Amino acid sequence: MAQELLGQTLEQLRALAVSLGEPAYRGQQLYHALYAERQFDFAAMTNLPVALRARLSREACLTLPEPERRYVSADGTVRYLFRLERAAEAAVRIETVFMPEVSRQTLCISTQAGCAVNCQFCLTATLGLVRNLTAGEILGQVLCVLERHRAELRPQTNVVLMGQGEPLLNYEAVLTALRILLDPHGVGLSPRHVTLSTSGIVPGIERLGQEPVRPKLAVSLNATTNEQRSRIMPINRKYPLEQLLDACRRYPLRPWERLTFEYVLLGGYNDTAADARRLAKLVGQLKCKVNLIPWNPGTLPFERPTPERVEQFQRILTAKGVLATVRHSRGQDVMAACGQLASLEVIPPPAPASTR
Ligand code: SF4
Repeated sequence: MAQELLGQTLEQLRALAVSLGEPAYRGQQLYHALYAERQFDFAAMTNLPVALRARLSREACLTLPEPERRYVSADGTVRYLFRLERAAEAAVRIETVFMPEVSRQTLCISTQAGCAVNCQFCLTATLGLVRNLTAGEILGQVLCVLERHRAELRPQTNVVLMGQGEPLLNYEAVLTALRILLDPHGVGLSPRHVTLSTSGIVPGIERLGQEPVRPKLAVSLNATTNEQRSRIMPINRKYPLEQLLDACRRYPLRPWERLTFEYVLLGGYNDTAADARRLAKLVGQLKCKVNLIPWNPGTLPFERPTPERVEQFQRILTAKGVLATVRHSRGQDVMAACGQLASLEVIPPPAPASTR
């Protein structure tokens, strides 16, 4: 059976070259063609000798994910629905979102098909965990989407690991993919432009902090007491707020780096002035920013916070010296916004502003 090369590291490709009787540097050339140039056809890898290209075409393969559907939002956001197949396994569907902006593009990628963490405000949770993605499947989303938009790409690419799945529960594959994404000789993204978002898997946060190559870290907080958090994020029973914030305090930030706390504002649940004051107290001593995310309309039983509540929440945080921004979700009309990724093929009409 042909060997899959997508997701292989530099060391693995060098070893492959040697196993084929070639010098190791041929593996390096293959790595460059694949990840830096996004060249997915062996025949077109003109930096390799013809005989090697022919042999790779026979004995190896590069399987980019193929979009099954593509939904384009009125705001330019594109939600891709990928169908991934592996021998002897049922196909799974995952999603990737492409968000073009004036001077950059942001890709939101999945790290698992479905998710086991069961956050109550997230549509992905309704799928349960289907399976972990491989490093090649994680990387493949970035390569495929960048390639499809090649002509319109802006100089800066941001990647956020905020699609389906909890990245720190698929640690090895996620880190392998990240090392290739962040390698200047690989995909070449800046660690300042790549963010891993976690629901608060404390051992994973501690492990990530020890990695020489790592993205920025975002923690999905969403509540200010254990009782409130455990109700919407059952993972809090395993890693309660004290433990999570302690891991955040000990996280070794690089000089240029801040932690991000994501806070999904659920109308009437966690969006009061008292919540904002408690949040400021919890994170005020950390080098961080808070990203407020007004909850997106969907089929789950929560309400969208009113604009006044969002503004008040941000104002209180700012007054207490906490940097706080409001994330205006994109692609809501194609179910591409935060918390909406659940491989839905039926697109509901946009919900009225007062509900979600
Ligand atoms: S918010 Fe993230 S961690 Fe929580 S259920 Fe959804 S995908 Fe999983």
